[in-house]
Amino acid sequence: MRRLLASLLLLCTVVSAHAGVLNSAQLAQYFPSPLIVGDKDPELPVWPILKQEMTSTELVGYAFESIDFVQLPGFSGVPINLLVALDPKGGFLDVRVISHHEPVFLEGYGPQPLFSFVSQYKGLSLTQNIGIAAGARKSAKLDGNNVRIDGVAKATASVRIINQTLLASSLAVARKKLGFAGSHDPDQIARLKPELFERYTPAQLFGRDMVAHLSLANRDIEKAFKGTNGEGLDPDGSVNPDGLFLDIYTTLVSVPSIGRNLLDGPSWEKLSGRLDKGDHALLVMWGGRYSITPEEFVAGTAPDRLALQQGGLPIEMRDLDLDLRLADGTPIAPENIKVFRVIAQSGLDLSKPLEFVVNVKREKGMVYPEIIRAALPYKLDVPDRFYDVPAGDDKSYTSIWRDRLPELAVLAAALLLLTLLLARQRWLTASARRFTLIRIAFLSFTLGFIGWYAQGQLSIVNMTGLLQALKEGRGLGFFLYDPMTVSLWAFVALTFFVWGRATFCGWLCPFGALQELVARIARLLRVPRVRLRTATDRHLKRIKYVLLFALLASALFAPQLADRLAEIEPFKTAITLYFVRSWPFVLYAAALVLGSAVVYKFFCRYLCPFGAGLALLGRLRLLKWLPRRAECGQPCQSCRHRCDYQAIRPDGAIVYDECFQCMDCVVIYHSDTQCAPRILQAKRGVTIPLRAIAAKESA
Ligand code: SF4
Ligand code: SF4
Repeated sequence: MRRLLASLLLLCTVVSAHAGVLNSAQLAQYFPSPLIVGDKDPELPVWPILKQEMTSTELVGYAFESIDFVQLPGFSGVPINLLVALDPKGGFLDVRVISHHEPVFLEGYGPQPLFSFVSQYKGLSLTQNIGIAAGARKSAKLDGNNVRIDGVAKATASVRIINQTLLASSLAVARKKLGFAGSHDPDQIARLKPELFERYTPAQLFGRDMVAHLSLANRDIEKAFKGTNGEGLDPDGSVNPDGLFLDIYTTLVSVPSIGRNLLDGPSWEKLSGRLDKGDHALLVMWGGRYSITPEEFVAGTAPDRLALQQGGLPIEMRDLDLDLRLADGTPIAPENIKVFRVIAQSGLDLSKPLEFVVNVKREKGMVYPEIIRAALPYKLDVPDRFYDVPAGDDKSYTSIWRDRLPELAVLAAALLLLTLLLARQRWLTASARRFTLIRIAFLSFTLGFIGWYAQGQLSIVNMTGLLQALKEGRGLGFFLYDPMTVSLWAFVALTFFVWGRATFCGWLCPFGALQELVARIARLLRVPRVRLRTATDRHLKRIKYVLLFALLASALFAPQLADRLAEIEPFKTAITLYFVRSWPFVLYAAALVLGSAVVYKFFCRYLCPFGAGLALLGRLRLLKWLPRRAECGQPCQSCRHRCDYQAIRPDGAIVYDECFQCMDCVVIYHSDTQCAPRILQAKRGVTIPLRAIAAKESA
């Protein structure tokens, strides 16, 4: 078995690449006439989508498969592949699901809720902050900049991964094909509030923090060239060092509270008409002997003498070449006032300073003159009342952790309590009644809170997903989209070293808790329980290991089969979907739950591949934590007959792989009325030292 495990792990290191699956002809089915799928881009796996007009062909957008750009593993460890069509401005023309292995959308809900989820992106844009409403709440909110689309209840991790896949792959294409900025995620930048308007006089505007101003004397420029070959090359400036070189004012005229106050009505309308959604306009006014647009400047181009950047990234500003008038009717003189446009795709973030640089160059020499440059910076801070900041990085896992903090706090408190209880085993089991009450309370919490409420059912899908991700050489970051799973796994991994698999299976598995609670009720109702013969029990217990290896092997070599085989687990039906599912699944899960009352926890002991995986991992256990006496097994068989899991061998040794930490044997061990050696000793009037224990445990 260990050799097989080693082989499987070796296979995990084999890396294979994923690529899109659609060819031109298949793509054409998604984009029917009058649309045409053009030739695949020679450098990127992207197809242009064209539209045939009478005499011309218009570019409508670009189509691509997300898997060619982003391979973020889904909840099953396999990436979701989406077909995405983006228009040239970054709007989503269409989003379809090409393939996925998300468990809840395979046999749980079926694929329709997934298709409905991705269809919500149509008409939205990469330039908006797209967030997902929790669960399936119908709270989609569109206010232009911030958009909330509906999530899918119980598929939070899957839809977040899909959102991340879609946005990351679309950004990659937008940066290469649509000219989107390289450093900012367009859905994470602050954007203008187009509806906000405050009235100001031009004098008030200039007196407040809405206009950036830089005044440079000849002396300042000379200072900038000091120590370079350009020093002393400005005779006019040297004659009058205090004379004005440049006096420049810059404001974001596309802010309604600035533009509508600074320009007259028709000019504001004209300017607004020239800007696309998300574009910005900068009004630059200057005086002095240095012009931002010298004679050689070509209208409609980007100026050489004034540059805009943000966070070290140059952002293009291009002359709008508009004939505008100021609010008092004065025509804007193009020699010293210009309006420049910054397109939405540039990713200009209004919450960060707009950094301008006045470029001044000097020449030294006549034939091949040396060019020496100086850069004089200034900046414009846009007042924060004029823009919306994104609600947060809603597309990444951090927001999920933030949202689920209260649940995680409850879980952490419960795990701490459980650790304390198990660490104080003697106190916990000293009173059978107290122990039973504590156990029932904790199992109810596990089923109600961890399972049904917080959806923290660990599953074989975690193991197959891990294996598939490792095999494909992908990161394991997808687990972070499910904070409950990660937190439980972290705790379970730690407890492997102390108590083996028993802590999870005995206390923290919601389906295990459901079976135990039902079995307890059945016992109260005097439902007869069947105890299998020892040999039969031993043979049946091997089934779960066979299922485990079948699942792990299929995860590596036939993921589709793994999806099917994983249905051996009734967790999705009983815990994720509250038994609301097609009848064969409900029948299967209900039979296992009710059957567990007759053959105690039949599923856990014989069928659960996840439990088998935990049992193997549980061999990391360092302690033999169950107390035993020399008399255990020889001659006493009390514990063995009372262990419902049949995890005690006839010789009294504990089979830890099969122990569920139910503590029944420990309660007996400490009981003067149930432990046979203690009863005998009591009759003889001898007190047994509780530590007189013979270690009789199996490996
Ligand atoms: S054996 Fe499976 S179902 Fe049973 S408690 Fe363990 S993980 Fe849960
Ligand atoms: S009775 Fe003892 S050996 Fe059996 S499952 Fe419970 S704790 Fe483990």
